[in-house]
Amino acid sequence: MVGALNARLTHHGATDVLRAAFVAVPDIALVSSFGAESVVLLHLAAMAKRDVPVIFIDTEMLFAETLVYQQEVAERLRLRNVTIIRADDVARADPDGTLHQRDTDACCALRKTQPLQTALAPYSGWITGRKRYQSGSRATLDFFEVEAGTGRIKVNPLARWARADIVEYMDENRLPRHPLVAQGYPSIGCAPCTSPVAEGEDARAGRWRDQDKDECGIHFVNGKMVRTGAKT
Ligand code: SF4
Repeated sequence: MVGALNARLTHHGATDVLRAAFVAVPDIALVSSFGAESVVLLHLAAMAKRDVPVIFIDTEMLFAETLVYQQEVAERLRLRNVTIIRADDVARADPDGTLHQRDTDACCALRKTQPLQTALAPYSGWITGRKRYQSGSRATLDFFEVEAGTGRIKVNPLARWARADIVEYMDENRLPRHPLVAQGYPSIGCAPCTSPVAEGEDARAGRWRDQDKDECGIHFVNGKMVRTGAKT
């Protein structure tokens, strides 16, 4: 199915990919961080299907601005089906909230990966905002792929968009911007693990800065959390 969808839609845009995804995988959810560029995919999906299930992971380590922005975007786009998920084991596993200082992989697994896998259990597919331009490992990203290990269909409607396309779309549709972008954060994750980016740096250089860590662990390979060399 995935190969046929990619072949059929190879010259199509994000809206056609989303519409095809909603037909081919009726029980599909969109996973969003409500970060710097998230509003584009949310807007496209809401236009195609207003009640698309949206999953937002509140790691309880996010910037306050992200929580406010999440509410603003959900209201503005009239998203009717947003689920906010949190880890249910934080009080035991990270009672003082310092796990990220000792073991970022364990912290991401606790606060992001495991809750997301639980939230995705009822779904056969999920929609992501990943794009080819974000890193070398995503350079050949297809619209549709099968997630190794889970068998879920993963849909990447923005795979072929350039950064300029994202900005242009936000401008043309007058979409609200995450307030931290204007403060030097072109990529926004958890507060302890995100720093501003200087001019000329890669947009994702502020994520887990100075650490040998590139993945939050949400994107699986062979069913396991792996580092793929792409900051997500
Ligand atoms: S990004 Fe940092 S704070 Fe957030 S879950 Fe991962 S290690 Fe923890």
